[in-house]
Amino acid sequence: MTAEPGNGETGALVLFSGGQDSTVCLAYALDRYDRVETVGFNYGQRHGIELQCRQRVRAEIVRRFPQWEDRLGSDHMLDISSFGAIGETSLTSDADIVMLESGLPSTFVPGRNLVFFVYAAALGYRRGLHRLVGGMCETDFSGYPDCRDATLRSLQESIRLGTDVPFEIETPLMSRSKAQTWALAQELGGDALVTLVIEQTHTCYQGERGTRYDWGYGCGECPACELRARGYWEWREGIGGQGKLSARSPSAAR
Ligand code: ZN
Repeated sequence: MTAEPGNGETGALVLFSGGQDSTVCLAYALDRYDRVETVGFNYGQRHGIELQCRQRVRAEIVRRFPQWEDRLGSDHMLDISSFGAIGETSLTSDADIVMLESGLPSTFVPGRNLVFFVYAAALGYRRGLHRLVGGMCETDFSGYPDCRDATLRSLQESIRLGTDVPFEIETPLMSRSKAQTWALAQELGGDALVTLVIEQTHTCYQGERGTRYDWGYGCGECPACELRARGYWEWREGIGGQGKLSARSPSAAR
């Protein structure tokens, strides 16, 4: 079995939500690969703000980084709202965000990243894009089991077996702290990319964009805002951005 014709070696499909992490991943892919497409998922999120940010981020990248313009290809939006109906948690219903007995926050949607990658692989197969890039991170992120490196390595193997195509799942942020993610943005696109992340991306669980902090827009109090703010200040103060990982180290991406 063969995939559709395409540039599977030098292209990438980026799981792109319009948030900080996936925006840095998009820049990471544009810096490395000749053809980069983006995929987003509508699964009934409580707030559509992140999804609205997607198009603004893409437009700003083209405007501010002409060297990436020719590389940035199509955007794909996939409706998987039936999945959101299964995961009745805070992000997809009106329930408050709390810590559950399992030790996971109620924002956890079981298996979400597994579903994202399977859909992305099916799309990548058709588009001839065999590298799937996602912003999952196991250092900072609340212990979500589907963000773990071991989970995604296993999923990569399953996708390879299930498609007969040597897909690669690439997660450049996996072992980076939030401060190191800010540092990576700076390394990839300088102050212009840092500014783009601050002004255009959205991370807040509450969907709040009324207040502009130094690190961007948000409520300033939810777990996502706290992580983003803490990482920003650690980076600015030089605490967390100088870790042993080289920001460009390919080994950090796998
Ligand atoms: Zn918030």
